[in-house]
Amino acid sequence: ALTEPAVAATTPAKAPPHFVLVPFVAQGHIIPLVDLARLLAERGARATVVTTPLNVARQRGAAEHAARAGLPLEFVSLPFPPPGSGLPQDCQNADMVADNYQFLPFFFALPELAGPFDAYLRLLPPPRRPSCVISDWCCPWTAAAARRLGVPWLFFHGPSCFFSLCDLQAANHGLHDLIVAAGDDDEKHAVPGVPVPVTVTKATVPGFFSHPLTLELRDEAMAAMRAADGVVVNTFLDLEAEFLACYEEALGKPVWAVGPLSLCNKDADAEATASRGEVAGAATQQAIIPWLDGQAAGSVVYVSFGSLVRKQPKQLFEVGHGLEDSGVPFVWVVKESEAAAPEVAEWLAALEARVAGRGLVVRGWAPQLAVLSHRAVGAFVTHCGWNSMLEAIAHGMPVATWPHFADQFFNEQLAVDVLGVGVRIGAAAPVMIFDDETVSVKRGAVARAVTALMGGGEEADERRRKAKEYGEKARKAMEGGSSYENLTRLIQSFTMSEAKQHQQEQE
Ligand code: UDP
Repeated sequence: ALTEPAVAATTPAKAPPHFVLVPFVAQGHIIPLVDLARLLAERGARATVVTTPLNVARQRGAAEHAARAGLPLEFVSLPFPPPGSGLPQDCQNADMVADNYQFLPFFFALPELAGPFDAYLRLLPPPRRPSCVISDWCCPWTAAAARRLGVPWLFFHGPSCFFSLCDLQAANHGLHDLIVAAGDDDEKHAVPGVPVPVTVTKATVPGFFSHPLTLELRDEAMAAMRAADGVVVNTFLDLEAEFLACYEEALGKPVWAVGPLSLCNKDADAEATASRGEVAGAATQQAIIPWLDGQAAGSVVYVSFGSLVRKQPKQLFEVGHGLEDSGVPFVWVVKESEAAAPEVAEWLAALEARVAGRGLVVRGWAPQLAVLSHRAVGAFVTHCGWNSMLEAIAHGMPVATWPHFADQFFNEQLAVDVLGVGVRIGAAAPVMIFDDETVSVKRGAVARAVTALMGGGEEADERRRKAKEYGEKARKAMEGGSSYENLTRLIQSFTMSEAKQHQQEQE
């Protein structure tokens, strides 16, 4: 349901630029790019998000919001999985991958979208010719099609700029290969070229696609990154100024910091906010919000581990016991796949009975932004996925940090040691999504971190004060401040001159 674009406030005489956005197919990558698409459309550009059928269906809330608001925001689906991939039909998002063995065929099937993407770009008629492709860093297969058409290609890097800088410097200094060659698992290696001390071990060295069988994908992503025309990041100047400056310098390309992107979801459109990322969120909201309405301001801790982490029953029970023992009111999100086993379902029901009135267990997808926006919620126990972390910061909330994998240990360091808004729960080493039979964090650690986070005392007060301050700065960045201005510049950079536009129409 497309309508004509609103007249661009920044470029009245010219046709609006068309941004084509391609997320990697995982919730933590799709959600911020859909937010970015919405912002671009609100600011007068045309935006199209290109993904697969299942992911378009999940974004129905965003599509309906765009239609209601008359925004030139469109969703396009390319066929996936490709025939012969061996993947089940619904395996279109990282959260649908069933086990470790399915990750490899999943990663290898994605670049096969390059052909359909190329065809899609080529067939766009002149008024909708792409002005710029903004592609997730993990989708380097989009770059060739853009190049062939002479369309600028930017990459979107979803994590904190602190992580992106560490990742880039690790790659520039061949740290990954060096550590693998060194052999000693526990040896600490410094990441050079970062303005704060950062050390990594074999387990925590940054880098996506570092499995021996996906190194080719990693190299392709690095090559596309080096040839890119720039990068868009979900952060803001007042949060990561020194890392942004170093990253831009090390990369040698423009870096547009346009976040926190989640702040485009305004309370005024509660339905769109509740269904962000998953239409199912709107139904869950009806159970959570009335419950939160009955709690005192700032008294509730929100506990969620993002879209990918899957906890085995023993670890799940430790979380539940820890929350129970803390005595603090809580909303805890447990995934349907985690709660499915009968013994877990039974255990959760018993916990709910014991903590009735004080604790709420949500099964499935939670409307995270609606929860974080509620006055009753005062803090967040997070796995340190960058979206969750930044959403907490944008809402002025301190965090208890429990990183699991990927960029999360770096985000923890940023929150605790650099920004001073977090308290560590004490997760020592990365755990994999499916193989984690260990109970790496015990109930005592959960209870201690939650009590420290929600309690009184100088340290807790200071964390809350800093978080509130960053929350205010985040809002300002998006409402006319640095991120708003960066988005203006981004749109202007890809707005074609009238003469060029005319020429294109004649071709
Ligand atoms: N999210 C949500 N409800 C849930 C779980 C996750 O709305 O029940 C959203 C959350 O707000 C965030 C994204 O999904 O925007 C998760 O991204 P993040 O980077 O935090 O973690 P990942 O899922 O990539 O590990």
